[in-house]
Amino acid sequence: MSETPDLVILNGRLLTFDAANPTAEALAVAGGRIAAVGSTAEIRGLAGPGTRVFDAQGSTVLPGFIDSHVHLFGGSVELDYLNLYGVTGLDRLTELVRAEALRCPDDRVVFAVQADYDIMAEGRATTRHDLDRVLPDRPFAMFAADHHTVWANTRALELAGILHGGDTEAGAEIVMAPDGTAAGELREPGAYKPVLRHTRYGGRDMEGLVTGANPDPMPGPIDRARDRDAIAAGLRHCASHGITGLHNMDGNVYTGELLEELDAEGALLCRTEVPFHLKSGDPLDRLEEAAEMRRRFAGDRLWTNRVKMFMDGVIESRTALMLRPYPGTDHIGDPVFAPDHFDEACVRIDAMGMQIATHAIGDLAIRRTLDGYARARAVNGPRDSRHRVEHIEVLAPDDLPRFAALGVVASMQPGHAPRGHIFPEHGLDQVLHPDQIPMAFAWQTIRETGARVCFSTDWPVIQVDVMDSVRAAVGPLEMPAPWVDQTQRLEDTLRSYTLDNAWVEFAETRKGRLAPGYLADIAVMDHDLAAMAPARLNTARAALTVMDGRVTWEA
Ligand SMILES: [Zn+2]
Repeated sequence: MSETPDLVILNGRLLTFDAANPTAEALAVAGGRIAAVGSTAEIRGLAGPGTRVFDAQGSTVLPGFIDSHVHLFGGSVELDYLNLYGVTGLDRLTELVRAEALRCPDDRVVFAVQADYDIMAEGRATTRHDLDRVLPDRPFAMFAADHHTVWANTRALELAGILHGGDTEAGAEIVMAPDGTAAGELREPGAYKPVLRHTRYGGRDMEGLVTGANPDPMPGPIDRARDRDAIAAGLRHCASHGITGLHNMDGNVYTGELLEELDAEGALLCRTEVPFHLKSGDPLDRLEEAAEMRRRFAGDRLWTNRVKMFMDGVIESRTALMLRPYPGTDHIGDPVFAPDHFDEACVRIDAMGMQIATHAIGDLAIRRTLDGYARARAVNGPRDSRHRVEHIEVLAPDDLPRFAALGVVASMQPGHAPRGHIFPEHGLDQVLHPDQIPMAFAWQTIRETGARVCFSTDWPVIQVDVMDSVRAAVGPLEMPAPWVDQTQRLEDTLRSYTLDNAWVEFAETRKGRLAPGYLADIAVMDHDLAAMAPARLNTARAALTVMDGRVTWEA
């Protein structure tokens, strides 16, 4: 080693994911790269007078976490909205929302996030009249945790101009009451977009999800600075959880520009990929914009190499697309894409050499997504495409072997499952047929087929806190039959969150390992994770985060 290290980390339990050197105690960082990995004595000997020495005190040191499915802009702005996680009942909701209304007198819509589908009472739909009781005199709206539904009071529906309904795109629905007015439930972005336009960030935070196009008109300097500040705070929050990389799952050029500006200021604390988002109603000529984004964002800290699409909604609102009707209904959910259009999109994107990530939750949505990827492979020939399916909540057994066979990545979120300690344990089982449950959130079953399984949070659907998701995978709740145990090994889980997520972005030769020459993206935890009881893993925190050789977080 020629350079004196900038930083050495000593006395750690290193999880290197380097087969040549799986465990070690210490490492040295120089010039943004990992310069050496070895024993504490060896590495200490490399330090010079200007070297920063960090004592890991026996804790786990591993490659920086990569969260491979986040919504950075939305997650960032939500850090500052009223969070209704765990809140139930009209009284508690009213108390919190009225306090929030006083805190935010200038907001045109008082807004809250993380509302439960059963916030009023188990099995009872929330209506605008309920929310009128919560806040009668100002517009109020709240987001479901999964971001597929917004509930709004009468004032908010009036402000948005949809109290008497309105046109929506495929898969979206302004739920109407028998009296011909909007009931207050807005399903999918196409339905709730008119409400979001009046929130604090004008819906710009959701634009990459709702349209995939830039805000129109483009924000002026004040809004732009506000957006940038929000994202900078979100990135600091991610860094505080040991995260050094993000795969954004919505996108537009505007988001890329904001991140570019943050990078120039040194505030891009996590490497971030911004995809191009192709909506089902878009002509395929829009893919030219994806190529343009790929040309424009091509750095090590900010890049585009992927197209995101949606195949369906979510199970909770019965918009996930199923092979057969939901129990007690004749409704199979909402197809977002027509299969031919999706197949053609896959062929085109794959031919451009770009990666595809498709949201597919229901068994029919997953099947159609795999069909599209198979079609691309048949037309363009097999290549190392690493196309991804996002979520995979209910899988048809016949489709299980297709992930490994097609080389498709299973991108899953341990914290979303009923066994994951984060969402209610019961509820989902009432929207599924009992025989669907064994293949619900079946990450171990998928892993055992040899398919690549990578982990993420889908922040802000759940918090971006890595260790909550690690506990969900390694120390899940025991669920009664027909649920099948899907407990993950700690090392598999951590690999899914580091090396495998680096692999998914075609970066496994530069990221995801603690090995000489790799980018210096490192998380030092405050516990030896391997020594912790699985159920307590969520209490571990990042003590130090290093990205690009730079300390981005220190407890
Ligand atoms: Zn998502």
